[in-house]
Amino acid sequence: MTARLLDGRAVASRLWRELSDRVADLAERSGSPPRLAVIRFADQGPAAVYADSLARAARGIGIEPVIVTPPEGVTGSDLAARIGALNRDPSVAGIVVAQPLPESLAVHEVAALIAPAKDVDGATPESVGRVARGDPSAFVPATAAAVLAILRAYEIPIAGRRAVVIGRSAVVGRPVASLLTAADATVVVCHRQTRNLARETRRAEILVAAAGAPGLIQPEMVNRSAVIIDCGINVTADGLVGDVDFEAVRPIVRAITPVPGGVGPVTTMTLLEQTVRAAERLAPESPDEMARFTVPARRRQQT
Ligand code: ADP
Repeated sequence: MTARLLDGRAVASRLWRELSDRVADLAERSGSPPRLAVIRFADQGPAAVYADSLARAARGIGIEPVIVTPPEGVTGSDLAARIGALNRDPSVAGIVVAQPLPESLAVHEVAALIAPAKDVDGATPESVGRVARGDPSAFVPATAAAVLAILRAYEIPIAGRRAVVIGRSAVVGRPVASLLTAADATVVVCHRQTRNLARETRRAEILVAAAGAPGLIQPEMVNRSAVIIDCGINVTADGLVGDVDFEAVRPIVRAITPVPGGVGPVTTMTLLEQTVRAAERLAPESPDEMARFTVPARRRQQT
């Protein structure tokens, strides 16, 4: 039996259509498209590649990207002023920091400068706390949100299932574990100190690999009913591969995401979905916002 392929590109294109409609509505209501600020510190390397591909995808659904490149050696206070200006700019719906950052800057300190209402990649302490609390309205780190988006798109049951997450990073493993817990899975988090990884992974009904270790998951480490979500993005001599030995594992499990074409394309869309959500919340014309400022008719009559 060959596993069902969980096609990230198909999930992403469905999201693309839905988001394009929501952005068109927003642009019509407020007269201009929402903007997404992407702060990137290096002109070269992965941060630039990420920023450019995010900008392209944003433009594709009608969001205007604004790439902000702070000068080399930027001071903390200068950075705070730049991010503060984006926080106050009503045309900017979302702010995201492209990684990696220069060594002199700590990612959590930079993230803390972002206004929580514009934190569309779930990086601020406020978002981290809300995700840990299980708040369904929280902004979530985009990769973690993509894992849940794929499970939901393929209607894979989560409640009561045994989920095993490999990796405990702030951007993937930890938030994925929180989201699966909130969705009523029984969650085990594995990492480098886990004594017998295979013993844990063999019991997984949902297995999320986020270790950044190519070929980590081999056929003898999974069971036939497993649904595998591979978050690994590893550049090897064989090209881009995940954490799962895809060719060997695919034939023996229930379902699996490929790399590339799995979590990656959905991650871009979940980040843009959160940007659209931020824009909808910030838009003065939004019905939610109007309700807050309008005195209900009944109360008006009484006064
Ligand atoms: P990512 O951003 O993909 O989450 P990180 O490098 O930040 O990657 O984190 C990698 C995580 O994966 C760490 O929590 C680490 O303990 C875990 N990890 C890495 N290699 C292994 C391994 N061979 N077995 C189990 N866990 C691993």
